[in-house]
Amino acid sequence: MDYFCKSNIKFMNIYDLAIIGAGPAGYTAAELAGKNGLKTILFEKNNLGGVCLNEGCIPTKTLLYSAKVFQTARDASKYAISCENVAFDLPKIIARKNKIVRKLTAGIRVKMNEAGIETVIGEATVKTKGDGRTAMEIECNGQVYAANKLLLCTGSETIVPPITGLKDTAFWTSREALENREVPESLLIIGGGVIGIEFASFFNTLGTKVIVVEMQDEILQGIEKELSALLRNELARRGIEFHLSAKVVSVSGGQIEIEKAGEKSVLETSKILLSVGRKPVSTGVKVNEYMQTTHPDIYACGDITGFSLLAHTAVREAEIAVGHILGKSAKMSYKAIPGVIYTNPEIASVGKTEEALQSENIAYTVKRLPMAYSGRFVAENEQGNGVCKIIESEDGAILGVHIFGNPASEIIVIAGIAIEKGIKAEELKAMIFPHPTVGEIIKETL
Ligand SMILES: Cc1cc2nc3c(=O)[nH]c(=O)nc-3n(C[C@H](O)[C@H](O)[C@H](O)COP(=O)(O)OP(=O)(O)OC[C@H]3O[C@@H](n4cnc5c(N)ncnc54)[C@H](O)[C@@H]3O)c2cc1C
Repeated sequence: MDYFCKSNIKFMNIYDLAIIGAGPAGYTAAELAGKNGLKTILFEKNNLGGVCLNEGCIPTKTLLYSAKVFQTARDASKYAISCENVAFDLPKIIARKNKIVRKLTAGIRVKMNEAGIETVIGEATVKTKGDGRTAMEIECNGQVYAANKLLLCTGSETIVPPITGLKDTAFWTSREALENREVPESLLIIGGGVIGIEFASFFNTLGTKVIVVEMQDEILQGIEKELSALLRNELARRGIEFHLSAKVVSVSGGQIEIEKAGEKSVLETSKILLSVGRKPVSTGVKVNEYMQTTHPDIYACGDITGFSLLAHTAVREAEIAVGHILGKSAKMSYKAIPGVIYTNPEIASVGKTEEALQSENIAYTVKRLPMAYSGRFVAENEQGNGVCKIIESEDGAILGVHIFGNPASEIIVIAGIAIEKGIKAEELKAMIFPHPTVGEIIKETL
């Protein structure tokens, strides 16, 4: 491969691949590159594992699991089990979360060592991009490194909107919410997206009075509306207050002024969590289906591309980029990227929503069954409800699958494979699902 032959006399040591950012995109790419013989260097300015392992996916799911255990223990009598004096200890929940993060980030370090990756902790900057004949130069901790290919995996950051008074008010982002060791009396969450709703569910379970203010007419934009409404109703039943089609116009201490249908009102809270979304750390990074930027030796993967801002997308993009560097021709597909809301109960969704199909003028049919059609679901969810909704094209192709009910996150992958591979509804229905499993609901619904 010609990039091994490029020379640059200034450097003794030219890497085949330099990767900036060690989140899911960066560490996946590094491991794959190293295992396939590419001399690879990985730069990370904070901690290996990126947002996902340190302050995103894993920490939130760890906290949500503690909340789920607490909720299950409180509800134990539904299953003929007595559990008295059920209590939680938030500092210990946070300490356990930190322990899990340490364990998993240590695992990434081991993987990098096993794959022969040189890891440098420090902020990296690209000095020169090379011209196809000379290597690129990357500076980190005052040292310059040369590489023939570069992969940018620098991720995303929290959006802070220009709300009057916000910059003079103490507020949490997801980062601070994950470190908090005291249960707030009340919490107003600005933004009813996935992150906001997962924290709403967590703090509600711990007894905080939670208020969610969402600008759109429904929470969880992009998720099948029918399911978002079911989850919202369930959370409202548990005491969460929702203000939809409502905009926060100003913040002053614990006083939040919102505007809804032209009417202004003031809500009071002891804490504010800002979760209106995330944006790539660099704007204007454009990539083709091989994750290659307009510079043929520079690739970009993960949140920095702004496509889906999900860890599993980042992982697949990294596989595509490194595959392309190694001479493979697989292209990135965004057709079947599952989206999950890890509340209790969960929502999991893959493929097209009804709303998207309507706006694209695509004809479809809907099949829908209550989750109670699965015996296993009934056995494990006393008084639980939920729905499995499957959207098909006129010729029987599966276009979208949307599930509300536990463990939606674990069974959605079946639907993802069917959508990605173009498996027809009747073909999937002919598969044998183990009995009794909640996954059988997919076969039943088809
Ligand atoms: C609260 C929260 C919950 C989430 N939950 C989920 C979930 O359940 N499921 C899911 O799929 N996704 C979830 N996400 C999103 C997920 O974390 C991201 O999609 C994922 O981390 C993106 O991976 P990445 O590799 O692109 O970037 P990141 O994980 O953001 O990693 C980028 C890394 O680059 C480093 N970096 C940046 N610039 C430089 C530089 N110049 N030099 C050196 N290093 C640099 C950063 O320090 C960072 O470690 C969640 C996010 C948050 C905030």
